Amino acid sequence: MSSSIAAFVNKEISLVTLKKNALINAALIYLNSYSVGMSNLGMHTVYNILNSRADTLCERVFFEKKRRQPQSVENRRNLRSFDLLAFSISYELDYLNFFKLMRRIFPEDDLRKRPLMPLVIAGGIVNSVNYQPLSKFCDCIFMGEAEESLPQFMDALSCFENINTKEKKKNFLEKAASINGIFIPGVSDKQKVRSVFIREVDKYPTSSKILTPFTEFSNTFVIEISRGCPWRCNFCVTGAVYRKFRPRSFEVIKKQIDNGLRYTNKIGLMGAAITEHPDIDKIIDYLLRKKALISVSSLRIESAGETLLKALAMSGQKTITFAPEAGSDSLRFSLNKKITNKQILEKINLSKKCGIKKIKLYFMIGLPHETDADIQAIVQLSIDASMILPIKLNVGIFVPKPKTIFAGHVFAGKKRFLAKFKFLRRNFSSSGNIILNLAGIAEAKLEWLFSQADEDFFSNYLENKAL
Ligand code: SF4
Repeated sequence: MSSSIAAFVNKEISLVTLKKNALINAALIYLNSYSVGMSNLGMHTVYNILNSRADTLCERVFFEKKRRQPQSVENRRNLRSFDLLAFSISYELDYLNFFKLMRRIFPEDDLRKRPLMPLVIAGGIVNSVNYQPLSKFCDCIFMGEAEESLPQFMDALSCFENINTKEKKKNFLEKAASINGIFIPGVSDKQKVRSVFIREVDKYPTSSKILTPFTEFSNTFVIEISRGCPWRCNFCVTGAVYRKFRPRSFEVIKKQIDNGLRYTNKIGLMGAAITEHPDIDKIIDYLLRKKALISVSSLRIESAGETLLKALAMSGQKTITFAPEAGSDSLRFSLNKKITNKQILEKINLSKKCGIKKIKLYFMIGLPHETDADIQAIVQLSIDASMILPIKLNVGIFVPKPKTIFAGHVFAGKKRFLAKFKFLRRNFSSSGNIILNLAGIAEAKLEWLFSQADEDFFSNYLENKAL
């Protein structure tokens, strides 16, 4: 473990109790840095599920570029000494780190035919979008939300005290294949692979389990107040994968706020559509009465109200993030984002009135049916917005993803993106109130290729690339 991770861990406040000895030893692996991994509530959730079991000890592992022999954070153990390697994968580009890490763990082995143990399992949103890319390299893939399937999987595993023969492993995997939301390569029927979702979200409150200064939400107790999204933007994986909007009840959120305030006065609210929560005003009011400092990740523009914006400004949040995605109303409406430029500018004005100092705007280029006029509209909207508040402009590249309504669209070519980027750079070069940040074209192309990959893709890809 690098000295920087050791320094991070020294500053952590953990709400999870670790056992000294356990029947099952699991390594929970995030394929990115400590700060990205610890900003991910899914990572906290799995860590807590596993460590809450009487029979399991779970330790964390983060991807460290320079470490040739990866180790767990808690006890600095070699990863081969675990029973279970559980990979949490949020982004397609993290597949590359998956293979780099696997190569370091199993330096001598064909990654498709590893030793019987440790078991290799994977979960995270990318697997729910497409379970195929890692299916030849994992024993098991979790599809959808793991709050119910993971404990069932662990129950099955604990029945098999020792998986030391091929026969025992086969028996275990056949048993695991009967659990909903679990795909066992070579055993499960591909026609019947389905993601699973929790119906009663109140049964599974989700919040930070470790507080640390070194994340997106520094020393903040983050609470997921809802799952899913009521909007179905045509390009969006979150809306497509987590589907139905499921707000948690005010009572459950209140209890979590009270718990979080035992450790910190900073409370973060998380969810794809927090402003759609039916009790959002009550939640904000409760937080203000408790004198909590409030933060949120991003806001859906049309429903960002005065109460919330004022509370955020009073809590010291200087920047608000909005995602218009497209510059013109017509292109934005075609994405199923039904908000006009006039409404966006009104919200930026309201944000300023409430005390917000900066706006982050997210746009995408390469969208279906996009014209040059739509790119010009990004420029105009950003200039208009920058007359109100300083703007940080992030321009991403549209990557058509499986399961979304835009799944069938093609990824636009490099030449087209370069021309559009050139146009944007030229138009913003003299604008002091706008900071322009453009996405990487090569990365977006890889993201597209990986998201569409079939089960043979990485076998072929790895033969041609040195990791
Ligand atoms: S882009 Fe945001 S609002 Fe639209 S479906 Fe996705 S999460 Fe929901």
